[in-house]
Parts: sequence; C-alpha cells; structure tokens
Amino acid sequence: MFFIEVDKRAVFSNYAFVFRYLIVFKGKNMRRRYSRQIMVGPVAIGGDAPVVVQSMTNTFTRDVGSTVRQIHRLEKAGCEVVRVAVPDPASAEAIKAIRKKIQIPLIADIHFDYRLALAAIKAGADGIRINPGNIGGVKKLAEVVTAAKDAGIAMRIGVNSGSLEKDILKKHRSPTAPALAESALRNIERVEGLGFGNIKVSLKSSDVRTTVDAYRELAGKVDYPLHLGVTEAGGLYAGTVKSSIGIGILLYEGIGDTLRVSLTRDPVEEVRVGYEILRALGLRQRGPEIISCPTCGRCEINLFSLVDKVEKRISHITTPFKVAIMGCVVNGPGEAKEADIGMAGGRGVGIIFRHGKLLKKVKEAELVDTLVEEIETMEAGYYTQKGKENAI
Ligand code: SF4
Repeated sequence: MFFIEVDKRAVFSNYAFVFRYLIVFKGKNMRRRYSRQIMVGPVAIGGDAPVVVQSMTNTFTRDVGSTVRQIHRLEKAGCEVVRVAVPDPASAEAIKAIRKKIQIPLIADIHFDYRLALAAIKAGADGIRINPGNIGGVKKLAEVVTAAKDAGIAMRIGVNSGSLEKDILKKHRSPTAPALAESALRNIERVEGLGFGNIKVSLKSSDVRTTVDAYRELAGKVDYPLHLGVTEAGGLYAGTVKSSIGIGILLYEGIGDTLRVSLTRDPVEEVRVGYEILRALGLRQRGPEIISCPTCGRCEINLFSLVDKVEKRISHITTPFKVAIMGCVVNGPGEAKEADIGMAGGRGVGIIFRHGKLLKKVKEAELVDTLVEEIETMEAGYYTQKGKENAI
C-alpha cells in the first residue's frame, strides 16, 4: 500500500519546477523520490514500479551460445533486465539472435562509436546505454536519438567517473560528485534538446561517498528514473560491502529505481546481492531468507556446511520464506519458532519447527534432506494457498 504526498520543502525550494512528489510506503515508512516511469521492453522502471534488478553479461556478446546460456542463468536468479557489451559490429549483430532466445529485456552498452548504437537498435535491443559525451558529437548523437525514438526504446545516460568530459574534469580538478552531476545534467540537456525524454540516468564512481553524493545532487534536479550502482566495486566481499552501503543509503533515502551490483564475479552473484540489499531494506523479497547464527562454543553440529548445502539446494525457490538454521538451543528455538521453517541444533541432532510448532528431531546426517524437503513441501502448499503471484 502506498499513497502520494507532496514534499512541501521541494515546492518552496529552488527546484520547485521539478515534480518532487514522494511516495510513502505505509508500514515501512520509507519515502521514495518521485520519478517518471519509463519502459524497458515490458519492464516498468520508475514511478511506483518496484526497484528493478539488473546485471550485465561478461561473455563475448558475439558468442551467442555462451551469452544466451549466461542470460538464462541470470533469468533463473531473478535478473529482470540484462545488459550486454557491444564493442564491435559482430556483437551488435548478435543481439538479433540473442534476443530471440531470452525472456528478459536486453540493453546494449555502447561506448564511442555511434554506429554500434544504431546497429544494436536495428538488431532489436530493448534499450541502449550510452555516454552522450563520448558518442561523437551532436550530429551523431542526434542520429542515435532518432533511431531510439523510432524504435520506441529507452536510453540510459551513463555517466562514469572514469570518462568525464575534459572541461568538467578541469573545472572540478577530479571526478567529484558535483562533477558527475554536472556531466549528467549536461548530457540530459543534450538529449532533451533533441526532443527525447525516454531516459534513465546513472552516475557511477568506484568511491562510495562520491556515488551517494552525486545521486543525491541529481535526484533533486531531475525527475528521470535513476539507475544505481557503485562501479568497479571489486570482488565478492569488497564489492558486496561497497554496493550495499552505496546503493543501500540511496534506497533508504528513497532514491533509485533500478540497480546493478557490480562484482568481479559470476554476474549471477550480482543479482543475488541486489535482492539481498532490497530484502534488507524491506523493499522486495525473492526466495527464502536464511537466518543463521555465526556459531560459537555451544554449537555441536557442522552448521557452516549445513547452511551452505541448504542454501544451494533451495536456490531455485522464489517464495520468500524465512528459514532459521541455528547452532544450539540458546537462541535457536526462539529464532526457529519465528521462522516458517526452523532448526535448532543439539549434539549431533537438529530439532525442526514449522511455523513455531515443534515438528521432529532429526539426526545431523539427515538434516539437509529434511530441511529441503520441508521447504519444498511448504513451497508447494504456498502456491496452492496463495497463488504464484505472491512470489516475485
Ligand atoms: Fe552460539 Fe547457539 Fe547463538 Fe549459535 S545460537 S551463536 S551456537 S549461542
């Protein structure tokens, strides 16, 4: 449930010309910046649409088979929009074949060469991501905009701290937040000047504070949907932490309509982390949430391996159950009782709870199978009772 409220401060602010309605989510008490809604294929981004989770393939796009296989894995993980790099004409051409074999909308990522953007649009991309500043001047940008307009597709203006315009960099001395915001505003004006408003914007830096400040600055000046991300965030640990903080702060402030977690990893991990960020903020849920303790000297079962195995075995489930897997009886039964399915460890055994009711005591060797079986049974029942539409 949500309702729309006018942000009175904005009305009297210097940016009163900008629509700054905030959507207030009842119960969560989280406000969300108003943004106009755009469509990427059938996926709505902005407005009252849920925050969309994206990822990017790391295969050679011209290798259709590998790219399609990776996109299928991403789809299975819940990725809603996928981006592919288009560094050469063969990659642009490949979009035609890839598009036919995937379910989710595809965005072509273009740098420098406007002809690749034209070719990607012609090949059926559902959206393009460009940096208008490096696409080769106003005339070439106009050609790309006209092609996107004719195809009815959206464009992401992707400003990146690594590719800022020389004059902006000179003025600000380094890729600061105001520099990123200035570049974004300049590029937005360029595209608007060509009569195009079907856009979303990203301004990414590998520095978390810069990223947050830049998005904050832009969010008050335009009403376009914002694509969040901390770029080149790093490996699984560093990247997850940086993305969770950067994207998390912005989402908590109601800023952001779609996100991509950038990791030097299998992109499927990006999707998982994206959903965990949204889940932690109570914005979206996908798949079971596993609550498990860190273990201590009281734990008398192999909890690490148990959690790992259960996590892998239930990764196909999309229903948002709460599964508690706890090491002992100190906090175990309490947590386990609060969850849909819970387990509290004992000496070589586990006590299983379903919706707070004690179900059975199981030997450690049988715990993984029993928990997975219970979760799958519950999933089947969940669908029967509430319908698949309750899961995302
Ligand atoms: Fe230790 Fe038990 Fe708490 Fe786990 S639940 S951390 S084993 S006291």
